[in-house]
Amino acid sequence: MFVVVPVRGGRLPAGGAEVASEYGQGGILLIGEGTQAAAQELAGLANEVSCAEVGKFRPDAWSTALHGHIGEEIIVLPGCPDGRDLAPRIAAASGCAYFGSVAEIKNQDGELEIQMARWGGLAMELVRTSGHCVASVMPGLHSPVSVDGPLQITAVELHLGNGNDVAFIEEREPDAATMDLAEAKRIFGGGAGLLDESVFGQLGNIAAELGASMGATRVVTDRGWVGHSRQIGTTGVVVDPDLYIAFGVSGAVQHTSGLGQPDHVISVNTDPHCPMMQMSDLAIVCDANAVVAELEQRLGRNAGAA
Ligand SMILES: Cc1cc2nc3c(=O)[nH]c(=O)nc-3n(C[C@H](O)[C@H](O)[C@H](O)COP(=O)(O)OP(=O)(O)OC[C@H]3O[C@@H](n4cnc5c(N)ncnc54)[C@H](O)[C@@H]3O)c2cc1C
Repeated sequence: MFVVVPVRGGRLPAGGAEVASEYGQGGILLIGEGTQAAAQELAGLANEVSCAEVGKFRPDAWSTALHGHIGEEIIVLPGCPDGRDLAPRIAAASGCAYFGSVAEIKNQDGELEIQMARWGGLAMELVRTSGHCVASVMPGLHSPVSVDGPLQITAVELHLGNGNDVAFIEEREPDAATMDLAEAKRIFGGGAGLLDESVFGQLGNIAAELGASMGATRVVTDRGWVGHSRQIGTTGVVVDPDLYIAFGVSGAVQHTSGLGQPDHVISVNTDPHCPMMQMSDLAIVCDANAVVAELEQRLGRNAGAA
């Protein structure tokens, strides 16, 4: 299998290190802007990485060039936004099958077994295939495995044609309120301990004020208070934030198994013994609704004073 990781601004995207470590035995190619810097993130996870420094994201031109460069391989990309954009285009350029929302790829007796999430993760589908195909793998499901030895980085030349890409005008930081949760570095999660939909409006406001994204438990998304794309967990989005603050979340395993390994976890809950409080660095025993209201008021005041 051959791994392709699209790079912006010298950083690996969500899931980039995972696919490189798990599926990069046949080669790893970083493509984009700042690829050599991004390759350093793979030190200790891979021994050989190729870098194609081709500038800003141009999925159409890249996919044609990649088709010529890689040939008849099984090509694996991370399921980050750029990976999901690029992967089907490589498949179309190569005239082969594309598999999206992939959880796992196994080589079984010369055949590939590909497991994919369907219906927002409520069902899993297993497909067997052989030969050339392209897959994008959901971030957060694999832990990168360490390797011994140094990392060798090789620059490769990719000649891009014109392609039918839109013109690049400006790159903006993603809006924390709407960005893909899997990419968010700060998440404020709300659970059934929050009283109603309006408290989630308040939680969204304080998250936005502090550059964080709002997530929720399944109890909350089932009630329709928050969209399913904000649900964290085994049947929602698998996230990997640096900071997770849980408001009224009990910490059921179906929720916490989708949390990745945050550097810092804070929990606000009336039950000091619930699992979410047990796994927190800072456990605050009190009414989460009152904390949300107080934070909103204080941040509102500060914003007004600024
Ligand atoms: C097949 C399957 C898949 C599932 N997938 C997911 C998934 O992807 N994601 C997910 O989240 N869940 C999932 N679940 C559901 C999961 O098992 C839990 O039911 C759910 O995570 C609990 O959500 P919760 O913490 O919001 O609610 P609860 O478990 O009801 O917890 C509410 C918490 O709020 C606290 N609380 C109450 N009042 C207050 C207050 N005033 N202030 C502060 N704290 C308060 C309580 O002490 C409690 O800890 C799945 C379940 C199944 C069976």
